[in-house]
This record gives sequence, C-alpha cells and structure tokens, in this order.
Amino acid sequence: MTAPHPVLQPYDVLIIGSGMSGMVCAATLSREGMNVCLIEKNPVFGGCLQSFRRHGVQIDTGVHYVGALGEGQIMRQILHYNKVLPHLHLRQMDQNGFETLHMEGKTYLHPMGYERQQETFSQYFPQHKDEIRRLLDTLHTIGNKLSLENFRQGIIDDNDRTYMQLSAAGFLEQTISDPLLRDIYSSSATIIAGEHDSTPLYHYAMVRHSNIIGAYRFEDGSQHIANAYLQTIQSQGGTTLSNTPVTSICVSNGLVTGVETSSGEFLPARNIISTLHPVETFRLLEQTPLVRKAYLTRLKSLQNSSGLFSLYLLMKPNSFPYLNTVHFLFEDRKTWIRRPTGKTPELPTSLMLSTQAHHDSPYTRLVCLMKLMDYSELLPWEQTIVEHRGESYLEFKHLHQEQMINQAENYFPGLKKSIQAVYTSTPLTYRDYIASPQGGAFGINTDSRFLLGTLISPRTRIPNLFLSGQSLSLSGILGTSVTALLTCSNLIGEKYLAQKIANE
Ligand SMILES: Cc1cc2nc3c(=O)[nH]c(=O)nc-3n(C[C@H](O)[C@H](O)[C@H](O)COP(=O)(O)OP(=O)(O)OC[C@H]3O[C@@H](n4cnc5c(N)ncnc54)[C@H](O)[C@@H]3O)c2cc1C
Repeated sequence: MTAPHPVLQPYDVLIIGSGMSGMVCAATLSREGMNVCLIEKNPVFGGCLQSFRRHGVQIDTGVHYVGALGEGQIMRQILHYNKVLPHLHLRQMDQNGFETLHMEGKTYLHPMGYERQQETFSQYFPQHKDEIRRLLDTLHTIGNKLSLENFRQGIIDDNDRTYMQLSAAGFLEQTISDPLLRDIYSSSATIIAGEHDSTPLYHYAMVRHSNIIGAYRFEDGSQHIANAYLQTIQSQGGTTLSNTPVTSICVSNGLVTGVETSSGEFLPARNIISTLHPVETFRLLEQTPLVRKAYLTRLKSLQNSSGLFSLYLLMKPNSFPYLNTVHFLFEDRKTWIRRPTGKTPELPTSLMLSTQAHHDSPYTRLVCLMKLMDYSELLPWEQTIVEHRGESYLEFKHLHQEQMINQAENYFPGLKKSIQAVYTSTPLTYRDYIASPQGGAFGINTDSRFLLGTLISPRTRIPNLFLSGQSLSLSGILGTSVTALLTCSNLIGEKYLAQKIANE
C-alpha cells in the first residue's frame, strides 16, 4: 500500500487507458460534473484510435469503418452527447455496397438498409427469399436492442442474454440452408475474429445490424476522434496525462485509493475505471483478499480473440482510387475460426482491403490489408520487444507481406505499382503498444456456451473499482462506447444517463 500524496486532492474518477472506452468514460463523467483524470501509457492518446504519420500521411491502426452513425442512430448520438460530433469528418459508405465480397470468382455487394439487403440477396439467391427475411428480421430485432428508443426509456442494456447464449454460426446454419449464402453472411466473422463454436449471435448481429443501418468512415484518419475527445474532456475540466504508465492500482481497507505511475508518483482517486484487458488490470492491482486467486486463475484461462496481421500500403499520390466499400477477398470459403481439439486453430485466409478516405481527394494514400493471425505463429519472438525482434521476424513479416500483396493484386491489378512504402503490424505490435495479452485484436472472447464464465461485469469485488473496454462483451468502436456508458452508469445511474443521451 502507498500513502496518498499529501497535496493532491483525489480525483472523483481516474480512468486508465485512453482508447475509445476511456475517452467515452472521461467525456461522459466530466460532463456530469466529476473531476476526472485520464491516464495513458503511450506518448499519443487514443489506443486503437491512434494513427501514425509517415510521409505526411496519417495511417490508421484500428478503425476502418463504424456502424450506427446515421442520423438518429446510436453511435452518432453518443458522439453528439460527448460533444465531439462537430469535429469529425464522417463519410457514409456506398449505400449499394458498404462491403464487397469476392468468393469463388463472383462478387457480392452488401447494401445499406434492410429493404435493399432483402432485394439484393433475393436477386442473388431467389429460392431463399424467406430465409433471408428471417435472418434479416433477427438481425434487426437484436440490433434494435441498442437504440435511441431504448435509451429514451432509460435502457442502455436490457439484460436479455438470450441471443448471447446462441452461437452465431449455429444460428446461420439453422436459418440458411444454402451453404454459399451462409458463407457470404458469415464473411464478416473475419472482422470480429468470429469463432465458429462460441461467438455469440448477439455480437455478430450487433456488428452486422449497425453496418446495415449506417456504415461510415472517418475521413483523414481516426486520430482526430481521439483529439476531439481530448478537447472535450479538457474543456470540461478533466485532466489528461499521456506518457504515464500505471504501474500499480493501490488498495486500502477494501477500496482502491489511487494509482502509482512509472515515475513513482501517486495519483489519488475516489473511484477507478480500468479500460485495460482485465488480466492487465488485476496484474496491476495490489494484493487484496477481496480478489481471490481462483478468480485470477480463471481470468487468465479465458481465451483471447485472435490477432491481426496488418499491412499499411502507402500509395503514391493520385495513383490508387479511394474505394467507398470494404473488400473481402476470399481464396476459399473459410469464414470462422475453428479450434479442433488438440490441434492448431484453423483461421480464415481471407484478406480485408480497406482504403482511407481523405477529405480533399478522390484517391487514397493508404490501402490497408488485414488478415487474422494466430499468436502461436509468433511464439519464436514472444520474448522480444518492439524494434528488437531480429532478422527472422523481419523475414517472417516479409513473407506474409509478399503473399498478401500478391493476393490483393489478383483482384486489383496495378495495386503493386502504386505502392510507395509498406509498413506492417502483427499481434506482437498490439501486445506491446496497448498491452493486449497475446496481441488479441478484440480482447477476451465471450463464449455463448459459457456465458457466465466469460461475460465480464463492469463491477468488481472492490466497490470503487470498475472495468470497461473491449474485453467486457462487445468490441469495436460502437461496442466499447456502449460498454463505457454501462460502466459510467454504475456511478451516475443507467436511466438518467440513457435518457440524457437520448434527449440531447
Ligand atoms: C487492426 C484493427 C482493426 C480494427 N478495425 C475496426 C473497425 O474498422 N471498426 C471498429 O468499430 N472497430 C475496429 N477495431 C476494434 C476497435 O478498434 C477496438 O475494439 C476498440 O478501439 C478498443 O478500445 P478500448 O478502449 O477497449 O481499448 P484500446 O484502444 O486498446 O485502449 C486501451 C488503452 O490503454 C492503454 N494502456 C494499457 N496499459 C496501460 C497502463 N498500464 N497505463 C496506462 N495506459 C495503459 C493502452 O496504451 C491503450 O491506449 C479494430 C481493431 C484492430 C486491432
């Protein structure tokens, strides 16, 4: 235990981690009059919102497109309530196809809007109109659980776990009889690192629904979301500290009292919200009888989501068009991660290709290619740190890089010759930059079969320590924002907060 600093007044709420969830918590609670402090270990705020700059181009690392951003939709309303919306440059994606799927030599468009989805897919698969209707109705029902209407009634989470206890892949198998149509609707599993046996229908449906109703991109990179949030938090009196790794969460008499940072400073707080991976949070927490060893062992045993290998292709100016859709390039029909007992996991080999939107050009300077990558592939370099992983790691990355560029070139002839420079990141990059164990892209996997054991609550056994972040059920920008609101509800009340957001 560390004694509180004699001079500093305790913050009402200290928030650890400045990703989307930390930003939403800090902006929400400071708006409600609380004295908040947002702490980030890295020099730049934003977590997965962070961009890095090369040759004058902002390169996004963890946001390609986000759903529910249309007028009157929930993500837009949260950004509005947090006073960041006017600072963002949103671009609606192609209504005729926000996603374009290439499978077995054919191209399928996922249009925006339920009616268009029904029409388009009924044309692709005329014999399966009724099944398509049933699927879309279910997506709509589930997606509507996160809606302005529910917020108006004071509900952020209706606590109905029915759809979390069903597996997404299982539901698709029961609902769609045509295997190709099923695979097409499963293709987005790759953007949530979907697991065949365990990813809940709720998670899959929330991502699909939010994109069907309102898929948007952020022009000029996602860093400006983080910057807009910082401005709001600071203008509401909040303190924001970057370059400040938390090294210990201090406990006294069954309550958290503040955090110690890497410089040895103690920052006192009445409440703490940690948005870090729960294993990280409890690693930092001083020992207390309130948190049992068995609980920690269970937490550590939970499966993390698969990681991603990302290629950032910096394109020569005016050489490659901006594409207002996300392309999924499938060499086979594998869409879900499968984990046969005793064997290495089988991951889809498909690529996602996404271009960055710039407000002033019909061309893009950044093409991002991504694919799922299992952590086991990186074990030879597990003990290494950023920039010091050795020649063999560079060769490993180069091999994947070449294979991915060649795969993309097959669909976009001329892509190669437009490339000016290539940057890469692997799950190890994420492990080291944002402290995500095993470099999981989306935190802990919620398992529809063991919901009680894998769905983590924002409350902990310590009454003034709360959790938030992508490991608590929903990931993604929408998912973490909603989870952040649920965490804040514990301090200011769900009904009050939901209605305030809805009526903003
Ligand atoms: C490659 C990739 C692409 C993605 N694409 C999309 C997309 O297109 N659309 C979408 O909606 N979602 C996407 N996601 C998911 C989305 O980005 C994440 O779910 C979300 O941003 C996670 O937010 P978070 O706040 O939970 O965590 P993070 O963003 O990881 O934030 C956690 C923060 O805590 C900080 N931290 C860690 N340890 C400490 C410490 N000891 N002290 C202080 N700070 C600490 C980290 O540095 C980090 O800034 C993508 C993710 C990845 C990896």
